[in-house]
Amino acid sequence: MTPSDKTAIDAILATVHADPGRLMDILEAVQRRFGRVDAEAIAAIAHGVGLPVEDVTATVTFYAFLDTGPRGHHRIRLSRTPVSFLKGARAVADAFEAALGVSMGETTADGLFTIQWTSDIGMGDQEPAALADEHVLTAMAPGDVPAIIAALRASRPLPAKNARVTPSLVQAGPLLIGPVVAGAGIRAALAMTPDQVVETITASKLKGRGGAGFPTGLKWRLTRKAAGVQHYIVCNADEGEPGTFKDRMLLEQFPDLVIDGMTIAGYALGGGEGLLYLRGEYAYLLKPLSDLLAKRRQDGLLGAGILGREGFDFDIRIQLGAGAYVCGEESSLLESLEGKRGTPRDRPPFPTERGYLKQPTAIDNVETLACAARILERGAAWFTALGTDKSSGTKLMCVSGDCARPGVHELAFGVTVNELLDIVGAPDAAYVQFSGPSGLAVAPKDFGRRIAYEDLSTGGSTMIFGPDRDVLDIALQFADFFVDESCGWCAPCRVGTTQLKAAMEMIVAGRATRADIAATHALAGMVARMSRCGLGQTAPNPILSTMLNFPEAYEARLSAADFNPRVTLRAALGEAVSVQGHEPILAEAAT
Ligand code: SF4
Repeated sequence: MTPSDKTAIDAILATVHADPGRLMDILEAVQRRFGRVDAEAIAAIAHGVGLPVEDVTATVTFYAFLDTGPRGHHRIRLSRTPVSFLKGARAVADAFEAALGVSMGETTADGLFTIQWTSDIGMGDQEPAALADEHVLTAMAPGDVPAIIAALRASRPLPAKNARVTPSLVQAGPLLIGPVVAGAGIRAALAMTPDQVVETITASKLKGRGGAGFPTGLKWRLTRKAAGVQHYIVCNADEGEPGTFKDRMLLEQFPDLVIDGMTIAGYALGGGEGLLYLRGEYAYLLKPLSDLLAKRRQDGLLGAGILGREGFDFDIRIQLGAGAYVCGEESSLLESLEGKRGTPRDRPPFPTERGYLKQPTAIDNVETLACAARILERGAAWFTALGTDKSSGTKLMCVSGDCARPGVHELAFGVTVNELLDIVGAPDAAYVQFSGPSGLAVAPKDFGRRIAYEDLSTGGSTMIFGPDRDVLDIALQFADFFVDESCGWCAPCRVGTTQLKAAMEMIVAGRATRADIAATHALAGMVARMSRCGLGQTAPNPILSTMLNFPEAYEARLSAADFNPRVTLRAALGEAVSVQGHEPILAEAAT
């Protein structure tokens, strides 16, 4: 390491006062400055923040966006999802490979470019998409590749045709229709006591919009009453579930609603600090969001004495992630916020009691916080009048794949899958992957089901596939996704996801027998049952739900002619039904 490199690292450390809790910021800044965080940099950082070298190394090696070795000066990461492939990602990859003379995963001899696949980058409605360094490229065609490479070579702006994110909101509903007046929800909250704010959220029956559906009012009440030196509000903007992009849309098009929601939570829970955890793929939003926070401080909507209320001091820091799907899980996210590997924590204690820095912490999804702001502005009764009795309000559905109108559609809970397909223009849909890979493969026989917590619960991801798509190949792609994203902490997930992928490869290749299918099914149940956290527990879902709902696809691919999956698979699925907790679909299908 040269003296000037050492000076640069010291300067980076100084920006966060060498706080070991800000390790992620330090590592990301070093990665940006040097293109990697190598052993020498790790040693210098460890010395500077007072951590063992092993701890810093463990963090660096955990995140996909941090490198310990040299890579190309420019890094092009193509989004690899079933939707990106049906939109032509393979042909775009071929064009990059041909133009640069290297294969995916390799670096050019001159060290200028590395091209590689990456998990979904949150642009499902505008695939094929990629990250070129921190810039987003969308709607690419093979013919666009030469101009993209030329622009990067010459350090020119990327072609406008691809270097833009089209606004994703297609259909606004009650939540998003109407002006957003920054601070409107906060003003309404300040007319109440903090307890009354929590009661209002409780009365609205708002549930978490990230997928888990935990009652927000209860979460806020538990956090408020938990003892601690400081209470924290965390906005989970790490939407890594493939096919999801509603949080990105909200942060781009309605950021004041989200920040209002965080600030209201700060008032209600007595929190002094909020943390917005922004997934690394959305790094391009860091500047506009930082600018917005600065403006809100000027306008008295953040900082000391918000809107003139003495003692109401609340501010927000943005923490950028670094490419780890598992950090969407709230305890992994907390570890990452503290500068560590995103390994899930044992629970209890739950974050409401012992979260960020061991203090009471409310972690809410971006959409949940936007809902909270509108509820304070318009009242709990306005919200409960929407949706169903058990699912109040609306849901932002992220629609992609084989449909005429991809994008975010705001729909009241209770709408059927058939109605959704009509709205988005997908009359030929043969398969809907609902709530991402960790959700369910829904077949036409279930298109009459309702989108609601009490029926088809979802975080919003809705990938639509037409009759010509290969259901098993899609399930294989999802199996591959979970192999990549397993944090490796526990063997059932680390080993099991790899074995499930191998089994699906055998099935897709037409080499599986009835016994292989039964063994795959048993393995999937074991992985779901034995894994430590939600990632491993849901990783087998694409396989189990396609086995259940598309048995004909497996039957057609079997090497054994007498295989009858409608009897064999469903009889064998009983155990997984109870493990996964997807009783409605499975129970019906078993009849
Ligand atoms: Fe890590 Fe998977 Fe185990 Fe979760 S289930 S702790 S992601 S290895």
